[in-house]
Amino acid sequence: MDGDRIVHDESNDSRPDETGVISVLHPCLPPVDALVPYLRRIDASRTYTNWGPLVEELESRLCRLLRLPPDALVTASSGTAALVGAILASAGRAQPGKPLAAIPAFTFVATAVAVEQCGYQPYLVDVDPDTWLLDATRLQEHMLIDRIGLVVPVGAFGRPVHQEAWLAFRARTGIPVVIDAAASFESFAQDSARCAGDIPAALSFHATKSFATAEGGCVITTDPRLSRSIEESLNFGFYSNRRSNCASTNGKMSEYHAAIGLAELDRWAEKSTMIEVTVERYRERLHLAGLDDRFVGRPVVASCYALYRCASLAEAARVQDVFRRSDIEFRFWYGAGLLEQPYFSNLPHDGLEHTKRLAPLIIGLPIAVDLSSTAMNRIATALQAAAERR
Ligand SMILES: *Cc1c(COP(=O)(O)O)cnc(C)c1O
Repeated sequence: MDGDRIVHDESNDSRPDETGVISVLHPCLPPVDALVPYLRRIDASRTYTNWGPLVEELESRLCRLLRLPPDALVTASSGTAALVGAILASAGRAQPGKPLAAIPAFTFVATAVAVEQCGYQPYLVDVDPDTWLLDATRLQEHMLIDRIGLVVPVGAFGRPVHQEAWLAFRARTGIPVVIDAAASFESFAQDSARCAGDIPAALSFHATKSFATAEGGCVITTDPRLSRSIEESLNFGFYSNRRSNCASTNGKMSEYHAAIGLAELDRWAEKSTMIEVTVERYRERLHLAGLDDRFVGRPVVASCYALYRCASLAEAARVQDVFRRSDIEFRFWYGAGLLEQPYFSNLPHDGLEHTKRLAPLIIGLPIAVDLSSTAMNRIATALQAAAERR
């Protein structure tokens, strides 16, 4: 179907991107025509949610794409709901003697929101300066380990969080672990053998993520008992009957969102290749500017992020200034770290020197599957101007 194709027309380059605002992210979800066949199936089945046929098909096709055992993936209404479902099913609500959930300070607010919804007090731990991830071995020795009832490592910007170290942590400490792999869809696609396992991982299909259903998400676990409990936790504690069996929420994916997911899957290979090509052109353009060593993009992080690592706070200030003057949007995706968010500013925390140093230096550059050469030129020129005055 023609409407399915992702349009990439270089002849469009000269128009909007020559002078207009370059948005930091320009998501591209399947067009209406690609959805219609799936929407007609909803009309025919008159099933709109509660793990209907489209959700079932989406789950099994995603399992095949990610080379997971059948039933290893449970869809959810958002990445945050997926986290809540995974936490409630594997750790339950916080217990008085172990009220803390250890989470990295360098993450999107949803990590803290989800643990708090499950009754835990978020406890902020610093990230490794090179991987931007929590370090399982160091956390094991934490002074407050006896008060920690849950750990949520985060795959920063979609970086992979491998099962191995956290399985060992869980075995050694007995503390439940849930991975916030919200942006890590491509890490699973590349290496599900190391990313998927008994420890549940929550993914987001938000419009801003690489694989998107507008709002949506899933939990992946190879533990079949746990995946069944996660379904329960996402559906009022119900499974095959209407008895509420456990701590729960309503976090189910609707058939309409599954329709978007199925259409997104139909073109995933094409979308994935296209963003790969775009990111390579971006990197080459920055190479010409002598700045490619500052660029962090796919496949190190998810393809929905194009990050620029500034050398100093002064340089970061210059980059922001020149971007503002050039109508180039940018974003600090994780703000200045969780502790700088007003609502979370009183959270207990470790020393956070790496987070505090990293967060203001990692600037999200504009990215889109069809980011034009003209836009890349403007971005590279602006970055060069900011870098040259060193
Ligand atoms: C996107 C994201 C989430 C939240 O996902 P939603 O689908 O928006 O609820 C959680 N954690 C991280 C690290 C994210 O990037």
